[in-house]
Amino acid sequence: MAMTTRAIVQTGVRALELRELPVPDVDHESALLRVEACGICGSDAEQYVGTIPVQYPVVPGHEPLGVIERIGDRAARRWGVDVGDRVAVEAPIPCGHCAACRTGRYNVCRGRGGGLFGHGYVPLSRPPGIWGAYADFMHLDAFSIVHRMRPDVPAATAVMFNPLGAGFRWAVELPATGPGDVVLVLGPGQRGLASVIAARAAGADTIIVTGLARDTAKLALARELGADHTIDVEHEDARVRVRELTGGHGADVVVEVSANSPVPVAEALHYAAFGARIVLAGVKGFKAVPEFVSDLIVVKELHLLGAFGVTSPSYQAAIRLIESGRVPVERMHTHDFALEDAEHAVRLLAGEIPGEQSIHSCLVPSLRPR
Ligand SMILES: [Zn+2]
Ligand SMILES: [Zn+2]
Repeated sequence: MAMTTRAIVQTGVRALELRELPVPDVDHESALLRVEACGICGSDAEQYVGTIPVQYPVVPGHEPLGVIERIGDRAARRWGVDVGDRVAVEAPIPCGHCAACRTGRYNVCRGRGGGLFGHGYVPLSRPPGIWGAYADFMHLDAFSIVHRMRPDVPAATAVMFNPLGAGFRWAVELPATGPGDVVLVLGPGQRGLASVIAARAAGADTIIVTGLARDTAKLALARELGADHTIDVEHEDARVRVRELTGGHGADVVVEVSANSPVPVAEALHYAAFGARIVLAGVKGFKAVPEFVSDLIVVKELHLLGAFGVTSPSYQAAIRLIESGRVPVERMHTHDFALEDAEHAVRLLAGEIPGEQSIHSCLVPSLRPR
């Protein structure tokens, strides 16, 4: 009998349904992943509400962790993994040939056509259909990128390779953060907290995190994970506080990872020290930034860096840190959800469930519904 998998299928804006889909055989170049966990991030919420353009129907889920169930002989040789190995899978499935890929920016590759091509974004109509990780099984393409992960790390912790990888790329790799740097993180969500962990691991001197009044618990966690100071921007004058905390110097690195509001982007210029690097990674639904004083970039010689996704070196750094057990990254993990609860999980992350808050959550296909 042909094998099938349960999968959550997005059929439109705010429309998810559980389906049973066929699992094809693997060829020489591909593999089948048994999904252990799939992390949920802000992009899932944007995909759910239709801000990220994807073709429907589609199986979402771009932060997969799992075990190789079947693998083609050539894929096994090229990736250096075999049946039974645990792997973390990167979201993009690059073409390997386009200008972006050739210049080392495979994370923005559009060479496979149809916009974003990656796990969680390729429609069901493109064989074999099961491209996303909101499922028991997911297809691994010849160009999928996998990283080995030690099997003894709990799945909910191991799957944090994704936010932590973002922390390393956005707060360390892109702004070249090192010892002596004052790092200011705007936004205490999972990416902000991951930025704190990464900046601390990179030897940053002072780490400051900003948040809103409702973020009290997240700011406390930021301090636990390595932040020296936190600022509630609704009750404190953040510009004054940053000046005070840095002896008038300002931040050498500003990492903007807040969601939706463009206000922190304009504020970042005020917090920055001369010659500072400002990394913009939080998306704002393509809204313009009011009160953006570009002269501050000129007179302070600031460097503005855009960050879209994560690349292999930062995933490697994240995986090594997770496997080392040196940092209690699992403190960020708040929820495991069954596949059936995918919609609740995404809406909770988007802040749409009154009275409940999540930081890092994941879908665990082997869990039964709540
Ligand atoms: Zn994500
Ligand atoms: Zn490409």
